[in-house]
Amino acid sequence: MQQYIDIAEQNLLHTYNRYPVVFEKGAGVHLYDIEGKEYLDFVAGIAVFALGYGNETYNNALKEQIDKIIHTSNYYYNIPAIEAAKKMKKASGLDRVFFTNSGAEAIEGAIKAARKYAYLKDGKTDHEIIAMEHSFHGRTMGALSVTGNKKYREAFEPMIGNIKFANLNDFESVKALVTDKTCAIIMETVQGEGGIYPAEESFLKAVRELCDEKDILLILDEIQCGMGRCGTMFAWQKYGVKPDIMTTAKGLGCGIPVGAFLMTEKVGQNSLTAGDHGTTYGGNPLACKAIETVLDIYEKENILDHVNQVGDYLTKKLNEFVEKYDFIEERRGLGLMQGLVCNKPVGEIISKALEKGLVLINAGTNIIRFVPPFIITNEDIDTMADILDKCLAE
Ligand SMILES: *Cc1c(COP(=O)(O)O)cnc(C)c1O
Repeated sequence: MQQYIDIAEQNLLHTYNRYPVVFEKGAGVHLYDIEGKEYLDFVAGIAVFALGYGNETYNNALKEQIDKIIHTSNYYYNIPAIEAAKKMKKASGLDRVFFTNSGAEAIEGAIKAARKYAYLKDGKTDHEIIAMEHSFHGRTMGALSVTGNKKYREAFEPMIGNIKFANLNDFESVKALVTDKTCAIIMETVQGEGGIYPAEESFLKAVRELCDEKDILLILDEIQCGMGRCGTMFAWQKYGVKPDIMTTAKGLGCGIPVGAFLMTEKVGQNSLTAGDHGTTYGGNPLACKAIETVLDIYEKENILDHVNQVGDYLTKKLNEFVEKYDFIEERRGLGLMQGLVCNKPVGEIISKALEKGLVLINAGTNIIRFVPPFIITNEDIDTMADILDKCLAE
């Protein structure tokens, strides 16, 4: 394994401090490294592999699609894209879909749609967007511009401009930033990288009302918290508010690189039009076959019921750690998107867990993040808790 790691470090651009493991394959909720060691996976490729590894229905659908056709072009229609769009509309109650290759690209599209919507109203080109501190929306320039973490942005300034930052769950801080130029308010329904902070219902409802009043578009980033992870297909469905634009990715393709932004018919009819936006790969038949199959499996296997059941159990187990260890301050999160907030960096705990065959990841420096595949059972959670307890004790 060390030989491969050395070669990797000689060749790959060093943009990640990687853990010293080379994974080779997966089965269900387990990963295996190239020396055959088994790991229980509570990361799922960062909230991606919701169905676990090696789901037969999913794999077979992709294999069949590969034999038919992998790629055409968005200048032609293809059936997987049509089916995937239909199913996403049904799952979200939103009306128009644009497929991308990643989360960041979905954010780029959402920003463009919001700016165009405002431009069509007043013909001006100085519209503003309000984003949240501690948010994370991706690494491309537009997505970075709305990411509320200076550390990620600073070296790459100037950003796209006219972005202001408010605080999640502080409505007055949002209201104070609104001007005649505000075209959109963007936030994660549950902040992921920034520390597993769910938006509060009263906050989200107040922002929704403000947006309605001023015809500002509400963009909810569901890239990490969506696709069932928080117990409803999209986290905002818990709150009784609906975004004008939503972004999704990560769990959407369960491993095939895909994303999408969706919008209401009103935004769809009054924003991006032919020639305004495009992508070569986005929405290709292979990617869309993945989306279509994922949504099929969710429905047939009542995945959301399972997420809610194991999510409750995970919550209970994590609360026990908060009780037991003084350096753990609180548990935050919903369903299978949870964090244990510690009063010190958690890197060492995560490394120890990996040595003991448990894959975990941080969110920020002080938070242990739990975003497992949806197919985990209560027994898997017990196993995770046993290993984690040993690491915490050490
Ligand atoms: C991961 C993530 C992104 C970026 O997605 P990529 O596919 O890595 O570009 C954007 N927003 C949120 C909330 C995310 O968790």
